[in-house]
Amino acid sequence: MKQTSPDSIFFESLYQIDYDLFLQLKTKGCPLCHAPLDTANYNRKPRGLDEKHPLRLSLCCRREGCRKRLLPASLRFFGQKVYSLWVLVLAIDFPEQLGLSKEILRQTLTRWRFFWQERLAETSPFMKWARSFLPPGYCVTKTPKNIARVFQFPARDSLIPMLKFFTQRL
Ligand SMILES: [Zn+2]
Repeated sequence: MKQTSPDSIFFESLYQIDYDLFLQLKTKGCPLCHAPLDTANYNRKPRGLDEKHPLRLSLCCRREGCRKRLLPASLRFFGQKVYSLWVLVLAIDFPEQLGLSKEILRQTLTRWRFFWQERLAETSPFMKWARSFLPPGYCVTKTPKNIARVFQFPARDSLIPMLKFFTQRL
């Protein structure tokens, strides 16, 4: 029954996009020594993520003495954070949509609020880049809510384009 639910389709799409991002990076080879990159995935389950795909797709340079590790961009994981990007985007403004309000500690939300205040500041590198993609007269706020509206969230098909947008430069 889970296999055909809208949620599992959503998570499956996130995984497919992550896999494409992984392959794009892999074909480029090592940025330091140009040697081929090997797969170096590891298990990590961000909170708020479907159980089926806990793998963090990751790469490692094949050349002994270099072994540079690379983390491809991801719609499911967000850097080293325990929570996935989509949770981070939505939790501040839309905790009820995630059903996470009881689990998320006050401390975590405070930290995320701080994170967004920095990223969404008028002078931040992210907002300088984002300006050209946002409608004229877009009002900068301290939370992702207004950006989510640009993507017509909470329409179901708004989530993936919105995450792709954030994944690019955040
Ligand atoms: Zn290398």
